[in-house]
Amino acid sequence: MASTKRIYSFGGGKAEGNKDMKDLLGGKGAGVAEMSNIGLLVPPGFTITTEVCTAFYKNGKRLPKDVLPGVEAALRRVESLAGKSFGDPDNPLLVSVRSGARVSMPGMMDTVLNLGLDDATVEGLARRSQNERFAWDSYRRFCAMFGDVVLGMKPERKQDRDPFEVILEKKKHAAGVKLDTELPVSALKELVVELKAEVRRRKGIDFPDDPMQQLVAAIEAVFRSWDNDRAIAYRRMNGIPAEWGTAVTVQAMVFGNMGEDSGTGVAFTRNPATGANELYGEFLVNAQGEDVVAGIRTPLKISDLAARFPGVARQLDDARAKLERHYRDMQDIEFTIERGRLYLLQTRSGKRTGLAAVRIAVEMAEAKLIGRDEALLRVDPAALNHLLRPIFDDEAKKKAQEEGRLLAKGLPAGPGAATGRIVFFAGDAEAWKSRGEQVILARHETSPEDIRGMAAAQGFLTAFGGMTSHAALVARQMGKVAIVGCEALSFDYDARTMTVQTPLGARLFSEGDWISIDGTAGDVIEGQVGTRPSEVVQVLVEKTRAPQDAPVYQQFAKLLGWADKARRLKIRANADQPDQAEVAIAFGAQGIGLTRTEHMFFGEGKIGPMREMIVAEDEAERRAALAKILPLQREDFAGILRVMGPRPVTIRTLDPPLHEFLRHDPEGIAELARATGKSEEHVRARIDELHEANPMLGHRGCRLAISYPEITEMQARAIFEAACDVSAEGVDVQPEIMIPLVATKREIDHQVKLVRRVAAAVFAERGRKVKYSVGTMIEVPRGALRADAIAESAEFFSFGTNDLTQTTYGISRDDVATLLATYLEHEILNRDPFVTLDRLGVGELMRIAVERGRKTRPNIKLGICGEHGGDPDSIRFFEKVGLDYVSASPFRVPVARLAAAQAAIAGKSKG
Ligand code: ADP
Ligand code: MG
Ligand code: MG
Repeated sequence: MASTKRIYSFGGGKAEGNKDMKDLLGGKGAGVAEMSNIGLLVPPGFTITTEVCTAFYKNGKRLPKDVLPGVEAALRRVESLAGKSFGDPDNPLLVSVRSGARVSMPGMMDTVLNLGLDDATVEGLARRSQNERFAWDSYRRFCAMFGDVVLGMKPERKQDRDPFEVILEKKKHAAGVKLDTELPVSALKELVVELKAEVRRRKGIDFPDDPMQQLVAAIEAVFRSWDNDRAIAYRRMNGIPAEWGTAVTVQAMVFGNMGEDSGTGVAFTRNPATGANELYGEFLVNAQGEDVVAGIRTPLKISDLAARFPGVARQLDDARAKLERHYRDMQDIEFTIERGRLYLLQTRSGKRTGLAAVRIAVEMAEAKLIGRDEALLRVDPAALNHLLRPIFDDEAKKKAQEEGRLLAKGLPAGPGAATGRIVFFAGDAEAWKSRGEQVILARHETSPEDIRGMAAAQGFLTAFGGMTSHAALVARQMGKVAIVGCEALSFDYDARTMTVQTPLGARLFSEGDWISIDGTAGDVIEGQVGTRPSEVVQVLVEKTRAPQDAPVYQQFAKLLGWADKARRLKIRANADQPDQAEVAIAFGAQGIGLTRTEHMFFGEGKIGPMREMIVAEDEAERRAALAKILPLQREDFAGILRVMGPRPVTIRTLDPPLHEFLRHDPEGIAELARATGKSEEHVRARIDELHEANPMLGHRGCRLAISYPEITEMQARAIFEAACDVSAEGVDVQPEIMIPLVATKREIDHQVKLVRRVAAAVFAERGRKVKYSVGTMIEVPRGALRADAIAESAEFFSFGTNDLTQTTYGISRDDVATLLATYLEHEILNRDPFVTLDRLGVGELMRIAVERGRKTRPNIKLGICGEHGGDPDSIRFFEKVGLDYVSASPFRVPVARLAAAQAAIAGKSKG
């Protein structure tokens, strides 16, 4: 540590750091360095590395002593570039002290502006700028931010307001003004005194007025903010390691609060909600820093800037072009205009909705700004779900409108449709959600403290803020439905009510009332509204909309077309019925990886004979019952095979324990006894007999089929008869019969022999042959370890990763929920292994099985059909171990296609 560089300077058209140094400089520090390097105007400054943050924590949360000389030296460089001196009462340099982690954690950590002001320097600032109001405005802002961030002046309870906000409100009230900018100098001076007094009253300390002391305290406070509750919650939710730490950037201030030719703003180089290729953002005249995001005054739209400030608009357009050309991605920027001059203060890759992500990637590739592989890597596969999410049904919405239920309009910040009961506090959103309620979080505005409640809500609705407000940002990131800046709303948090000024008058809503929000159109609607499938689903699944009338669909199809060319893994779907199979094909599935037959038994007409079979007293009775099921089951299979045609269809023979098919209540028992002519005692005895202490580890899968071979026999017969029937219709078919829960070679031998015997019999009867294969699921550790022997009989393996995870961990999937919460909290596990494959344990077994299976049978077909088949992170692993296909639920197929492409591209680049 002693020899490593800890401080990186930037400014004056160059920098020591660059955009690739996010680990060390944080995203913000790397961004300002890079922008300095490419010739954008950035106030000079320096960044203290994330390594110093680690050292800070090791040093008992104090800045290590040997860092200070470096800070002082770097400060001297900033002074000379800025032509001002830190702490100089004649010509003071003011700085901001800014947090910045490797990945952006918007609003989670803290920043202090205007540092370097005290009772002496404020006078110097006033003289130099010849603007007393500006100087005192900066000073009172500094006192408030320093008090908040460094001295911990926060509200104490959730109903409380920010103590400084209260003082400011009172001051405005006393002065008879509405806006901060209208406060006279005298009031600003009083504010400084009052804020400092409040610090003394609450904290019992004097506000420090030595600038160097302020600077060290602020740097330490920013490092400390890495460990505040919000940041910790955010990290946990986004899987950010606690060790990373934050960097601190100290930077010369530029002032947006110098008058009507100054201001501050935030912008995206493209529209973050729709992806449209236009500068998009907000601007506040005569304002500083966070005013835009905090929603203190309603900002101007960037699109309106050209009319009032053409010079500024031109500079912004230039900066936008330069940034996009350089970064080749949509950027999210912060800027300040000081007396007509544009300064850039931050750039980062902009968060966007799934909708925007797809459009931007496709359009940038078509404009040759990026290659196709890069376009594919740009879209988070899970974001495709945004394009499949329901929207409100036009008719239902129109009806709501006619009934006068359309309450208000706001900014559409998170597309999609959401309905839920209103709650006003983030904590309530969490609590209601855990009770199984679906809620909409409605607030004046949201703040980083609300993050967990926001995750629990279906969507959010705010009265304040624009497309760059906290709520909008989080909506994009979490893929939530959101409307922000809906000015018709006002809140009474104490009464837990919300008033909406509708065209028909004011309406009062209480906690728990139902509301619907259309995050695509920005409409707030009373009560519940019916939903309708998304544009993509209308085109592909419902076929109610023509592709040429569906721009979103077109982008989606283009991107996935590129994905299909890039990927090696085949994608199949898990489907149990013909209609599901149709959806799977519409979404691009190349086969079925798992048809579960047990669901079929609950279908029309089958459960009766099934139960009859279970309570039968001998094989003959069982066969008689199974004979009734055969034709029905044959129709099930024929339906699926017909839809899938030449694509492979993997059908799993019966898997669950028989117990699951019986009713255990007296009425059910009586009914079954009546239907089968057995005594109730017999039925009850049979139920007792089938009872298992651990059914998931009990008499199921091939074990059941070995005890009752006639079940497999019937199923195999149904499959082959169906295959012959469909093939006779001129449709090619490719059934694959899959035996579950195999642990030993003799189990699979037993079943394969049986299936092949039935196949031969059916083919002889029908005078027709179809291609088929028999294979097994690998879902218990022994099966994986004995894969070489099992592969002698099995023509394919399909990893049943749900059971394999369950049996490898020895954790019951159905009982894992509470345990998992504890484990995640204590970081015993980082992720739910039932969602994202555990590569180290379960993955290792898979590797072994792949290797051993291929040794015996080099061309053995390998797939996976657990829930992990639709999980992008797991798919990367499946690519790596060289499976042939993954199988996911039909609606996850697009996600899997893109994830498989990304995995292939990543593999390629590693060589
Ligand atoms: P956050 O991560 O919360 O956005 P920032 O460090 O980016 O925090 O700063 C908060 C606000 O202050 C932003 O609007 C930023 O543009 C502004 N700001 C930060 N440093 C300066 C500076 N040196 N001059 C002017 N404005 C600044
Ligand atoms: Mg910022
Ligand atoms: Mg299983």
